Amino acid sequence: MVDIWIFVQHRGDDIEDATYGLAAEAGRMIAQQGEAGRITAVALGPASESVLERLGDYGVDRVLHASGDHMNRYQGEIFSRAFVDLVQQEDPACLLMVQSAETEDLAQRMAAMMKTALVTRAMDFSMTPDGSARAIRPVAGGYLFEDLVMDSRPSPIVLFLPSVLFDTEPDRDATASVIRVPSPAPADDLKTRTVSVIEAAPEDLDLEEADIIVAGGRGLGKGEASFEPIHALARAIGGSVGGTRPVVDWGLLPYERQIGQTGKYVSPRLIINCGISGANEYTAGMEKSQQVIAIDLNPRARMFRFADLGVIGDVHEILPLLISRIEEQK
Ligand SMILES: Cc1cc2nc3c(=O)[nH]c(=O)nc-3n(C[C@H](O)[C@H](O)[C@H](O)COP(=O)(O)OP(=O)(O)OC[C@H]3O[C@@H](n4cnc5c(N)ncnc54)[C@H](O)[C@@H]3O)c2cc1C
Repeated sequence: MVDIWIFVQHRGDDIEDATYGLAAEAGRMIAQQGEAGRITAVALGPASESVLERLGDYGVDRVLHASGDHMNRYQGEIFSRAFVDLVQQEDPACLLMVQSAETEDLAQRMAAMMKTALVTRAMDFSMTPDGSARAIRPVAGGYLFEDLVMDSRPSPIVLFLPSVLFDTEPDRDATASVIRVPSPAPADDLKTRTVSVIEAAPEDLDLEEADIIVAGGRGLGKGEASFEPIHALARAIGGSVGGTRPVVDWGLLPYERQIGQTGKYVSPRLIINCGISGANEYTAGMEKSQQVIAIDLNPRARMFRFADLGVIGDVHEILPLLISRIEEQK
């Protein structure tokens, strides 16, 4: 029986949607193999049993859950030890994770400890009965794709790009069995120690984590003063700041704030796009946003096709008005 493991990306009881997409991916792999299979989810850190059980609605058969006071917050050395201990006891077919800052750290540690293959930014992954595994991932800004073939033993680790994981609805009413597994003892030989955690101002929050994004494009114009209304709106509504490639090329934002095919893939609850035409390469990175507002001078801008609310006008007139209204409401 093929046993595919997925890593549960969660903060307490809040499970990130991409985890459900990962469960669906594991289900597809099992169906392709045409043999009986099991999906095992691994959750590390605090989470309620009743929440983990609901992963059964997405096809997960069982959840291995390790927690403890020393696992309340992500710590690479502790989490990788806990995960590798489990893998070594059970030898699953493969480990699937969603690409994130946390899994990039975790997976690299685990691959080194397990001496196994690691694929990052995967778009597709499959295992063949002859004992090899295959992954596809984009390179050169998405213009080329690498087709990687690797041994399927020991269990390869695959980090999927969140943008390729489908939005998944629960398709059954099933309860996953939650198995409490021992967490590694708090070790005193750790190489790193968390001294403090600094909360980012919403404006500086990692775009992939942000709930609200205010994004600016070439329509704002060159120069820091022209881009300032974007920062001001973000501060007013507790949003994070992003932008298009021209804005990054002009040096108005650092590269990690670029949204799009060669930047970040974002999925906020709300994105406000200002002076952005909506080129394919940009919308590829934001089309999973739940609510989209677009402000642009050109009524024919492609961005409006993606917008739940479109405002035709000059950003330099609309944004100051909007910000002062928001401040009044506060
Ligand atoms: C291989 C490759 C990869 C790429 N990757 C990315 C990527 O990851 N991300 C990305 O963003 N781009 C990427 N691009 C570039 C992309 O093709 C577009 O050129 C870019 O997204 C356009 O950015 P923009 O919308 O800011 O500018 P423009 O397309 O110039 O649009 C500016 C918009 O502002 C409007 N406007 C002008 N003045 C005002 C005003 N005063 N008020 C309101 N609206 C106004 C205009 O009507 C227009 O719609 C890539 C291109 C290539 C070839």
